[in-house]
Amino acid sequence: MRAQDVLNQQPDWGGQNAITDADIVARCDRCGANYALSKCTFDQVEQEGIYSCASCSDTLLTVVPYVEGTELRAGTGYRLGAWVFRNSAELFVRGLKIPVSWKPAL
Ligand SMILES: [Zn+2]
Repeated sequence: MRAQDVLNQQPDWGGQNAITDADIVARCDRCGANYALSKCTFDQVEQEGIYSCASCSDTLLTVVPYVEGTELRAGTGYRLGAWVFRNSAELFVRGLKIPVSWKPAL
């Protein structure tokens, strides 16, 4: 699942001004690069969508299905309807910031 498709399913987004991955900018926490998701490496593994930094290959965002009944705490993801963003990079969607929501275990 691509991030653009998740955001366009949300009531406040989509419609006539549909979002594309080019509208979503990730700031890599590891190397500091800023990339639109459309410029990132994208892998689809079953239902998960995985975006990686075009410079350092660090995982920036994983889009995973929300599992009903799961309680999301700080550092375990940001729910958007039926999906969860696990972003270790700050995301900027047309200037609106989605803070880091995922702290991978080291
Ligand atoms: Zn990077």
